[in-house]
Amino acid sequence: MSASEFDLIDRIRSRAATREDVVLGIGDDAAILQPPAGKQLVVTADTLNAGVHFPEMTKAEDIGWKTLAVNLSDLAAMGAQPAWCTLSLSLPESDPKWLDGFLDGFLELASRHGIAIVGGDTTRGPLSLGVTAMGLVEPGRVLRRDGAQAGDDVWVTGTLGDAAAALQSLFAGATLDRALRARLDRPMPRVEAGRHLVGLANACIDVSDGLLADLGHICTRSGVGAEIRLETLPASPALQRFAPVMRHAWQAAGGDDYELCFTAPQERRSEIAAAMDSIGIPATRVGHVVAGQGVQVFDTNGNPWQPSRRGYDHFAG
Ligand code: ADP
Ligand code: MG
Repeated sequence: MSASEFDLIDRIRSRAATREDVVLGIGDDAAILQPPAGKQLVVTADTLNAGVHFPEMTKAEDIGWKTLAVNLSDLAAMGAQPAWCTLSLSLPESDPKWLDGFLDGFLELASRHGIAIVGGDTTRGPLSLGVTAMGLVEPGRVLRRDGAQAGDDVWVTGTLGDAAAALQSLFAGATLDRALRARLDRPMPRVEAGRHLVGLANACIDVSDGLLADLGHICTRSGVGAEIRLETLPASPALQRFAPVMRHAWQAAGGDDYELCFTAPQERRSEIAAAMDSIGIPATRVGHVVAGQGVQVFDTNGNPWQPSRRGYDHFAG
């Protein structure tokens, strides 16, 4: 191990909080964790590559936040309580200042959710950040993609399309609204919402690739279809300033939202509204699950709507 690699790991170890259930954390060949008796472990991994998952000029703090956020979002979509994570860093150079910035963002979000870094890997290479996140659930008390039933409502938390609008504005060289930029750089994983939806929702996914694509995954896994009403898709005040023709494409197909999309029986409407209210997360009904397959979107006039090819390919590619 080079001295600088050791320095970097030491920096991480000295700043990272631990938990009582970490028997052995950073510093040995592997970590030892003590899961509570009777709980199930939920494990997910996601990697962010520079220029692919975030613009090259993104601040280290924001990269750190987003690296953990996208993983917490997957735990949220399962209804799991975050517990531990590992962090794999591929760095073009040994830059302690950059690492400190990265850790500022990463650890701020980690402390909010009580998740501990218990190990990882540090190598030299193109900038790439990988996390494996682990969470805990009561046996079987989870949210999955494969439980949607015809007749279910389709819901989304928060608002959609802000991150895609921010990305598009960045590419276009336009002045960027701060609120939109924050949605791109600092997504808020809906961990609490996921926890509250266990036992209420029939199926759930986090919206990372765009609502239509991700709801499509629920439909495929559940063997059902879905119908969405375009005008019901929730938009932030910042997004409402854009013309509907642009805004709708971002909301339906933009991606990087890290909201939850879930389906639930109609009888659960008031319980879901109350649960989301109790944690201050808005949730909106945007359509329903139908027999069949695929996701269909309808505009205000009830006509089938497709995202414009250009907008859709731009973000899907
Ligand atoms: P090994 O060569 O045995 O795999 P390493 O030298 O890679 O061990 O890592 C030494 C210790 O530092 C291990 O406990 C490992 O989990 C931890 N570690 C390495 N890189 C990171 C990182 N980026 N974040 C957190 N812990 C790390
Ligand atoms: Mg070893």
